[in-house]
Amino acid sequence: EAADLAAAPVTPGALADGTAVPLLANLGSPAGAAKAVELGAEGVGLFRTEFMFLDTAKAPSVEAQQAAFRELFEAFGGKRVVIRVLDAGADKPLDFLTDADEPNPALGVRGIRSLLAHEEVLRAQLEAIAAAADGTSALVEVMAPMVATVDEAAAFTTLVHSFGLPTGGVMIEVPSAALLADRVLAVTEFASIGTNDLTQYTLAADRLLGSLARLQSTWHPAVLQLVKSAGDAGARLGRHVGICGEAAGDPLLAIVLVGLGATSLSMSPPSLAAVRRSLARVTLADAKLAAAAALAATGADEAEAAARASVDEAV
Ligand code: PEP
Ligand code: MG
Repeated sequence: EAADLAAAPVTPGALADGTAVPLLANLGSPAGAAKAVELGAEGVGLFRTEFMFLDTAKAPSVEAQQAAFRELFEAFGGKRVVIRVLDAGADKPLDFLTDADEPNPALGVRGIRSLLAHEEVLRAQLEAIAAAADGTSALVEVMAPMVATVDEAAAFTTLVHSFGLPTGGVMIEVPSAALLADRVLAVTEFASIGTNDLTQYTLAADRLLGSLARLQSTWHPAVLQLVKSAGDAGARLGRHVGICGEAAGDPLLAIVLVGLGATSLSMSPPSLAAVRRSLARVTLADAKLAAAAALAATGADEAEAAARASVDEAV
């Protein structure tokens, strides 16, 4: 019987009223793909590509990149796979791209800023992704990190299309992009909210500084308000707005994020089971009530307590 249970397919993410909430995996290399599939990942919501560039003096060849992407796409045949192009700088410095003299690296040349300054690196990534996508059944999408302006979103999406890749999107992890999400989404196909950086930039609290841990909570209503801004814009424009920061893996916060308009949740694969169980307990109406309760709170702890009380009353 134990064997039967182990073999039983994991059900897709859904609320108690049947609303689908695809549960996706955050991966940092193709090595974790098989385990993620086993744990029920319905696709990949964030594939971090930094691993290919660590400990190298220059970018890896297009062929080497293509092989890594191909391995990933084969593990997720027929499923959505979102590749994030290189997010160099700040907490992910790369010797050959990052200026070590920046006084304030989190506010420096990182993410899409770095790629637009070294467009050959971005072009090589897109060439490798397009080549690897050719002939696989994975539904490949590409997104840019650290987008702060509508112009960056438009430039990136145009470049993605020029490589024959149909779906370009952006991460919303800078408050400006969340506040203008309607205009950002008008020039790109989807967005994924990076709550780790969005929290850092909203509360002006360095994500690497342990002494500021109390300020680094995605539960803070100011962060939740920005998630709502993006979720509302996505609903108005008919665009997917997912979540791919660590917050998506918190079972209670996951309910709130869906209530704020998130259409999918991507997380570290070990979190999938608990989030799946948590979402199955509530309806979309319950999730919206929990979100409203959290949004109305004065701080992070109050928001979490209010959401918990709301969910406990509903189920
Ligand atoms: C984020 O910022 O929430 C995110 C998912 O990206 P990273 O943690 O890689 O910066
Ligand atoms: Mg980030």
